[in-house]
Amino acid sequence: ITEDYTRTYIQSQHLHEASKALLPGGVTHMARAFDPFPLYIDRCQGAHKWDIDDNCYIDYWMRHGAMLLGHAHPAIVEAVQAQVSRGTHVGGNTRAEMDWARLIMDLVPCAEAVKFTSSGTEATLLALRAARTYTGKSQIIKFEGHFHGWHDYVACGVTPPYDTPMSAGIPEAVQQSVILTPFNNAEAFTAALESSDDIAAVILEPGGSFDDTVPSDPAFLAHVRRETARRGVVLIFDEVVTGFRYAVGGCQEYFDIIPDLTTLAKVMAGGLNGGAVVGRQSIMDIFDPKQDGDWRRYQMVPHPGTFNANPLSAAAGVAALQLIATGEPTKRAQEMTSLLIEGINDVLKRRSVPGCAYGRASIFKTFIGAEAPPITRYDFSQVDRDTQILIQGPPHASELRQGMLLNGVDLMRVAGFVSAAHTSDIIDTTIQAFDQTIVRMQNE
Ligand code: PMP
Repeated sequence: ITEDYTRTYIQSQHLHEASKALLPGGVTHMARAFDPFPLYIDRCQGAHKWDIDDNCYIDYWMRHGAMLLGHAHPAIVEAVQAQVSRGTHVGGNTRAEMDWARLIMDLVPCAEAVKFTSSGTEATLLALRAARTYTGKSQIIKFEGHFHGWHDYVACGVTPPYDTPMSAGIPEAVQQSVILTPFNNAEAFTAALESSDDIAAVILEPGGSFDDTVPSDPAFLAHVRRETARRGVVLIFDEVVTGFRYAVGGCQEYFDIIPDLTTLAKVMAGGLNGGAVVGRQSIMDIFDPKQDGDWRRYQMVPHPGTFNANPLSAAAGVAALQLIATGEPTKRAQEMTSLLIEGINDVLKRRSVPGCAYGRASIFKTFIGAEAPPITRYDFSQVDRDTQILIQGPPHASELRQGMLLNGVDLMRVAGFVSAAHTSDIIDTTIQAFDQTIVRMQNE
């Protein structure tokens, strides 16, 4: 497979070699690095993308999960084009930011006010600071394997071994302010809460760690909600990925568990950059700059970002959320995901290959190989810390991805995000590509 891959994508290989002289490692995001070299993409439309050699792929990266409506949706293209000619930044307040905030508040259950940021990383950083200001406490609880962006407070405990930060350059004092605990383990969580009287917040991915690789147990989420409420600890759901996907109102609607704060990005900005902290009014008031703007005189959190609610993102976000508010895109993407998971599992069974596909909402995981941990869609009892092998990448992940690309499908590593632009024909074609890839891998 790798030989074929190297022979097929000659232009991408050349570009990648040249790119190494420009960008560290030749990539702009860790996840875009890929052996033997990544592909270079020219354009996207609907559920498809084309590389610079004009090879067409069914896309399951979907801009890191942002494109719930598919690429270049006409309503979003039109809204963004209309705004470009009226200025890309107005240096002032806009009606569009109000429309955008109103839609978010209508759709996300905990949202009593909205604070816009430029990314999901900014949103989690800001939410944690708001929680510390609100409670007057300094520590946070974070779960092993949960990803919340790349800032200092959340760069620890992401991949095993969990006591090592995922980055160099994180001050020891910051690491010590973060208490790590295993997910889906109520006893360990209660012990972590009781280990200190200086805990400001608990942050988590409500779908489960790393885009739901180890799915969350609803009973555990309910336990976390109960115990944080009892102690006045701020509960933050990081719905950067799950927002508008699990349900229009995200995981909090899907599980009917309402956090104090929520961080959003990706889908909410219609494919442009943008994020937000939303939540309870009493906490959100912390962002109010008061009338004279002198933040030294108030217990408030300033956030003077040049691109907060920038008009292009607001235009795209409003266009996207108006369509998402109907409920149809979220539902359609979920239906297509169920078909895909079923189809992949059928192939694995038919070809007698150990492994499985699983997922919730419109996010799926696929892995194959003898060492595959026995995770099934709702079987939480079999998920323990040892299963974190998934996060590091299951066996045969690289061949699977290369083989799928050669068969016209771009998986996000071994996972993917499905959009409302994926049709049942597209899903059938994906399942056939998966079958061909599996047969090829069996024959090598
Ligand atoms: N939280 C979660 C759950 C994420 O998956 C991500 C990004 N994949 C982030 C936060 C960070 O968002 P951004 O890339 O917009 O900074």
